[in-house]
Amino acid sequence: MTRSADHFVILGGGTAGWMAAACLSRLLFRVPGSPKRVTLVESAEIAPIGVGEATIPSIQDMLRYLNIDEADFVSATDATYKLGIRFRDWRVAGSDFFHGFGELGPTIENLPLFQHWLSEKIAGRPVPPLEALSMSAQLALNNRFAKPKQDGNSPLFMAGYAYHFDAAKVATYLRDYAEAKGVKRIEGHVAEVALAVDGSVNSLRLTDGRDITGDFFIDCSGFKGLIIEKALGSPFEDWSHWLPCDRAVALPSQSIAPLQPYTQVTARDAGWTWRIPLQSRIGNGYVYASRFCDAAQAEQTLRGALESQPLAEPRQIHFTPGRRREAWVKNCLSLGLASGFLEPLESTSIHLIFANLFRFFDHFPRDIDSAVLRQTYNDRSVREIEEIRDFLILHYWASARRDTPFWRYVTAMDIPDSLGAKLEAFRTQGKILADYYDLFKPASWMAIYDGMGFTPKAPDPLADLVPGDFSRRVLQNVTQGIRQAALAAPPHEASLAALLRRPLSPV
Ligand SMILES: Cc1cc2nc3c(=O)[nH]c(=O)nc-3n(C[C@H](O)[C@H](O)[C@H](O)COP(=O)(O)OP(=O)(O)OC[C@H]3O[C@@H](n4cnc5c(N)ncnc54)[C@H](O)[C@@H]3O)c2cc1C
Repeated sequence: MTRSADHFVILGGGTAGWMAAACLSRLLFRVPGSPKRVTLVESAEIAPIGVGEATIPSIQDMLRYLNIDEADFVSATDATYKLGIRFRDWRVAGSDFFHGFGELGPTIENLPLFQHWLSEKIAGRPVPPLEALSMSAQLALNNRFAKPKQDGNSPLFMAGYAYHFDAAKVATYLRDYAEAKGVKRIEGHVAEVALAVDGSVNSLRLTDGRDITGDFFIDCSGFKGLIIEKALGSPFEDWSHWLPCDRAVALPSQSIAPLQPYTQVTARDAGWTWRIPLQSRIGNGYVYASRFCDAAQAEQTLRGALESQPLAEPRQIHFTPGRRREAWVKNCLSLGLASGFLEPLESTSIHLIFANLFRFFDHFPRDIDSAVLRQTYNDRSVREIEEIRDFLILHYWASARRDTPFWRYVTAMDIPDSLGAKLEAFRTQGKILADYYDLFKPASWMAIYDGMGFTPKAPDPLADLVPGDFSRRVLQNVTQGIRQAALAAPPHEASLAALLRRPLSPV
């Protein structure tokens, strides 16, 4: 007998819960009279984590899927544009590089332009900084913003963008969307998860005695993984030996002009601080390793990094980096923090919520008990998070810093074999091993390799097949075009004001 998923019950009303509710409502309620139902249960006693303010360009896929108007979203969520991440003091104290969204130059003769740039660099010929090949970086570093254009004649086709936003306002926005489409919200605290005889989830028992039954459960209960771990026993694979940061302290501060269209991350003695400009405040935080720094020291470091008056008391957050061994077990899918967490250095968690929801839609079962769909989903989601994990580890391991116990640990630690293989391919022959389904494309890996001072022994062999004069001319034209387009773009604030059709609140 097949068991179909007609009634979805989501546990948790943070970013993951409401994103799941909004996307499920869009998927399931298209046909009038659909037998499908979605119920979301959230506790008033446990606040959502509330951080999660920086995104990557895939966030636009969600807005498109939900048919959300960009101006409405940006206005309601205090959002600003984000063109990438500026890394300060990561390679050594005083170093500064940019990981911009989008491409590092066009592709010429089957090879991205940055490979020709690399070939010139290896040959000892003068080259501009790698950032000169990034449309997004040039816009960002000039505090300007323009949207990517499909027109191949404009260098803007190589740009990409995302948003910084207020996580609590995003959850409210998605809640309004989902409730308007028919999602039912129940406020209640889950005391127990009741299982059926076959071990699948039967219902969520609330402290007031109500029993919420359903066919399929989505666990968005945050780090504790109330259903997936506590009831279904799916273990958590701890990656803190590779990513030792396990705490954060967050503290918003007053906004200051100009509003930078990028996230700034600065390496510190036991981790790194973030600076995320929203329209009305700056989000600040210090992600640190408790093995090397206590809470009081972390707070002092963060306060020392603030550029404006704090707006609240600092908030300490504990986490464990890693992933759920199986994110989908029986009739329960875990999403968000319940399914795993990687520190926010490259702003990947909200992307993973959305990506995993869509992966689930691709594997949407006619029969809840179909093991093959579950298994494929689990394998594919592991592949994605492991690739992101490797990319994050590179940011630490490749640093030349040795000035504190934290940096000595992360630069000497063993790394996963998968990352070792990528590094060998790059260092020996300039190859960047990235699959088409990987989140981080070769341009991203290149930005970090170069930012950390890695230059291969030999270039990609395909670069030898293009006459040097030709690639040098293209390099010059492209960097010039990018620079001109960046300087011709309006300031970030003006772009936001144009989108919102009103002046921004004074900062
Ligand atoms: C320091 C830090 C910085 C981050 N920065 C970024 C970033 O810049 N970009 C990014 O993409 N991601 C970031 N993240 C990750 C991001 O915050 C999360 O992925 C996102 O907020 C999703 O959280 P969640 O909804 O899974 O969990 P939560 O927000 O913790 O929500 C859990 C929900 O479960 C409910 N709940 C729990 N127990 C019960 C119960 N017994 N009964 C009923 N309800 C219950 C709670 O009420 C709550 O509604 C960051 C994370 C941290 C820790």
